[in-house]
Amino acid sequence: MERKSLIILGATGSVGQSTIDLVRRNPSKYEVVALTANCRVKKLAALAIEFKAKLAVIGNPEKFTELKSLLAETDIECAAGPKAIEDAASLHSDIVMAAIVGAAGLRPTLAAVRRGATIALANKECLVCAGDLMMQEVKKHGARLLPVDSEHNAIFQVFEDKYPHAVSKLTLTASGGPFLNRPAETFTDITITEAVAHPNWNMGAKISVDSATLMNKGLEVIEAYHLFPVNQDQISVIVHPQSVIHSMVEYIDGSTLAQLGAPDMRIPIASCLAWPERMPTPAKKLDLAAIGNLSFEQPDYDKFRCLALARDALKAGGAAPATLNAANEIAVEAFLLEKIGFTEISVIVEETLGRCDMKAPHSLTNVFEIDSEARRIASALLT
Ligand code: NAD
Ligand code: MG
Repeated sequence: MERKSLIILGATGSVGQSTIDLVRRNPSKYEVVALTANCRVKKLAALAIEFKAKLAVIGNPEKFTELKSLLAETDIECAAGPKAIEDAASLHSDIVMAAIVGAAGLRPTLAAVRRGATIALANKECLVCAGDLMMQEVKKHGARLLPVDSEHNAIFQVFEDKYPHAVSKLTLTASGGPFLNRPAETFTDITITEAVAHPNWNMGAKISVDSATLMNKGLEVIEAYHLFPVNQDQISVIVHPQSVIHSMVEYIDGSTLAQLGAPDMRIPIASCLAWPERMPTPAKKLDLAAIGNLSFEQPDYDKFRCLALARDALKAGGAAPATLNAANEIAVEAFLLEKIGFTEISVIVEETLGRCDMKAPHSLTNVFEIDSEARRIASALLT
């Protein structure tokens, strides 16, 4: 495999760090062009030095002076602010890892798309809030999206691109999160520590809470709808607590193909970094005999309202998915700041969806208007 150049957007996060781990283990295969982060300036500078990046960008402009002084002895260029992250995303590289969390990842990911880049896409929120526009731009600029999200990566690995009409159903597996078996009556007592403690995956705080509410699976249904040529009714969700089967594609002849693996994000990330080849990872190999049983159950849409809200938002279309995403970001942030309880997350999302009457976005500017309006409404509901 030839040496590939890499830009990592969100290098200090959970997906960013898993990516870094693989790059660190394969120095002859990957070269880092640019790294970005939002706040963790020391970490960013240390990574930029370690990997001899050409550019390091910090999102928060207040941290620019610190970044500059941390990199003073090097010839690494540094920059700050959202526009500088977009500029970093549009530099030339073989792969852009889009691992910023939330709608904040939309502009940088789009900048990479417009450069016609090959993008390892972890930032699912950008497809949730602007999926149609994103996919149009992908087509227009000849960009390529390689899904990092484990479910979508699984589907990507077993989806027969040449024969999309032979696909009858996609099944996204869901671990069910930490509260799968917890009685709904006790959900009001859920603490932050409980909500971010995912049974199978180690992830950033926002996606961990999304996994606990099952909003994550809802966002993933929307993500799958944009990534693969299927209609909404062909996307189903099944709870599979062991997280061994990462998702499945059913074909019209009754065959179902699945991808299995240990719940370690380095597996789907490696699949994107090495694509179309493969690379070794330190992830545990599957020992099915030790696991013993795989179980499956239907998701409980009443207990996990967020999943139902996301499916409804996809069905409603227009401004609903972007509204859902923005309201969820505000609600999850408020939960993580102990401003609201766990059960209020879905209430805020639902109320925001009910109050926001924006039209379907036909431009990126529209998407940001919808996003701002939904954030305004959701924030007002917090008080
Ligand atoms: P994280 O919170 O651990 O990291 C987020 C990264 O984004 C950090 O580097 C942070 O500096 C950066 N960032 C945050 N806000 C920013 C802003 N406003 N501007 C610029 N940069 C900003 O998140 P994560 O768990 O790594 O998730 C990243 C994305 O990948 C999310 O969209 C998530 O849904 C998706 N994802 C994550 C996992 C996982 O295992 N963690 C799995 C599948 C998909
Ligand atoms: Mg996932």
